[in-house]
Amino acid sequence: MDWHNWLLGHEVAVRLGFFFGVFALVALWEVYAPRRVLSVAKGWRWLNNLGLVVLNTVVLRLLFPAAAVGVAAAAQAQGWGLLHIYAIPTLLAVILAVIALDLVIYLQHVMVHAVPALWRLHRVHHADLDYDVTTGARFHPLEIILSMLIKFAAILVLGPPVVAVVIFEVLLNATAMFNHGNIRLPLGVDRILRWFLVTPDMHRVHHSVEDDEANSNFGFSLPWWDRLFGTYRDQPRKGHEQMLIGIRQYRDPQQVERLPGMLRLPFVGKVNSYAINRREWSKPDET
Ligand SMILES: [Zn+2]
Ligand SMILES: [Zn+2]
Repeated sequence: MDWHNWLLGHEVAVRLGFFFGVFALVALWEVYAPRRVLSVAKGWRWLNNLGLVVLNTVVLRLLFPAAAVGVAAAAQAQGWGLLHIYAIPTLLAVILAVIALDLVIYLQHVMVHAVPALWRLHRVHHADLDYDVTTGARFHPLEIILSMLIKFAAILVLGPPVVAVVIFEVLLNATAMFNHGNIRLPLGVDRILRWFLVTPDMHRVHHSVEDDEANSNFGFSLPWWDRLFGTYRDQPRKGHEQMLIGIRQYRDPQQVERLPGMLRLPFVGKVNSYAINRREWSKPDET
């Protein structure tokens, strides 16, 4: 049996295996070598962050039972999409598709920071007062639906092999848990690794309360897009231990660390206080 047929035949087991395996690894790493001291009780945060993950999983299954893999299979059956037009070897098509889908996710991430109404949805991810493995999966259900629709469109245009969509989703899931980890990596290892993969220190900059830092390092898996498009930032000004995580205006744990508050967060606040028209950060010399 071909490797891609094997993977498609064991899709659910591979997805669950990676999810629980990487989750457990990062969670243990956070206990033994944490990068920062957490500011909110972990049990409470985890219950609510993971509650949101369960809710999103149910919503997605109800709305899109066939999911991205179903769209890729339909595109393949119809011969839709760029990669089906040319006779490309499967392995090359898989590599190209995974890289292209990662670029789409990068561009989508820049977009949800730039467009005020979309930033309202995305700020649920950023409002977490701490930064750990559960932050990586914490998104408002409406943003999850938007992401899925964008992914469907990308798949229809691109025409990736079905197996590429499975690999892409498993990779994105695993890297999101890894790079949101509150974990300590030796600095030398981080420096080398971040040429190939978004590391926890790289993505943590993106969760700063400072707008210039939050509007950088948009990549989730591959770090190249930030360097290529000029949104790369090496380190937070205050350092990883001192930097403030979250959103400046929303710091009440009752609101940002509880499921009802998180679900309401896109709908609170005035309509002038975000993204493109919101630029505020402390100067390097005034701490
Ligand atoms: Zn973001
Ligand atoms: Zn993040």
